[in-house]
Amino acid sequence: MSATAWPRRLLALLMAAAGLALWQGHGRWWQLPDRHNPWAPLSLTEPPGWLTRHKLRRLSDEPAACLAFLRRTPMQFEPQPDRVTGPGCGLTNAVRLRRTQLQLGDAFVLSCPAAASLALWEQHVLQPAAQATLGQPVVRLLHYGSYACRNVYGRAEGARSQHATADALDVSGFVLRNGRRITVAGDWPGDDDASRFLRQVHDGACGLFDGVLGPDYNRAHADHLHLDRGPYRLCR
Ligand SMILES: [Zn+2]
Repeated sequence: MSATAWPRRLLALLMAAAGLALWQGHGRWWQLPDRHNPWAPLSLTEPPGWLTRHKLRRLSDEPAACLAFLRRTPMQFEPQPDRVTGPGCGLTNAVRLRRTQLQLGDAFVLSCPAAASLALWEQHVLQPAAQATLGQPVVRLLHYGSYACRNVYGRAEGARSQHATADALDVSGFVLRNGRRITVAGDWPGDDDASRFLRQVHDGACGLFDGVLGPDYNRAHADHLHLDRGPYRLCR
């Protein structure tokens, strides 16, 4: 017997054990939880984890799966036909949102992937932060809408904004169940519970959206949080 036979046998034994474990994984007594299973569809209720961004990205490539996810949330919406509205502007797999788990005031059009991020953010970031910091749930989202065929900052030249494809949402504030109103413009600069709450929901958005910009980024964002799904990751 050669000197390398034993390590090889040990390796074979380990592979057999791993194979057995995988085979038994199909049995009843052991099931990979959905949040650790890359093939399981995204669920609203499972806490975000290491696969959440992967699953959100996959929804961008699978319009039907994205709409199916939204139907598993409290969102009320109508799918919108794809259309091109100008150079670099238009809608692809967008929905008209009438409400999320929150009242919205005016309905607005948002791409399905951005709506999926919004649903997760409300469930796992916004409401827990509101309960922990303010002792109340949020009932209403204040916003400046989403879709606008324009460049970044509305400049004549330069890159198209994520708003041009309804992949971005500008959130200006929140109303709590007791009627208290928290606004980015009024409450971000302070050092109280409302300010802490706004910073928590800003920071928490960075894990679920791609671009997140708030008042600390520049004066153009002094009165809202810009939340987008796009090619760039930015958390400022
Ligand atoms: Zn924006």
